[in-house]
Amino acid sequence: MDCLFCSIVKGDIPSTKVYEDETVYAFKDINPMAPVHVLIIPKVHISSINDVTAENSAVIAHIYEVAAKLAKELGIDESGFRVVSNCGADAGQTVFHLHFHILGGTKLKVEMC
Ligand code: AMP
Ligand code: ZN
Repeated sequence: MDCLFCSIVKGDIPSTKVYEDETVYAFKDINPMAPVHVLIIPKVHISSINDVTAENSAVIAHIYEVAAKLAKELGIDESGFRVVSNCGADAGQTVFHLHFHILGGTKLKVEMC
């Protein structure tokens, strides 16, 4: 299967790593939308939120644990940040490997859509 983020996890495509453990990988977004823009992804291929099930959802809880840890390390826990996961065409998902955007370091727009 040809998946950009699986290739990043494998190291076949370079990325700026922010964090890694057995189940998740975090790296800087190549086209940052905010001063802090990090993507957290499961190492296992899950296409989108549509494919989250009782069998694989533990990694989602872990991703939020990592989000809290990284927000502290990146100095945005107190100022605030947003976690976004686009799912499907209407949300503008472009990479079909589940990912969570961590956005912060500035006052974010209030509009969500
Ligand atoms: P989405 O539009 O929610 O699917 O988000 C995909 C994100 O992946 C976008 O914010 C892109 O800038 C980012 N992206 C695409 N290719 C790379 C890459 N090679 N390294 C880091 N981020 C990437
Ligand atoms: Zn993948």
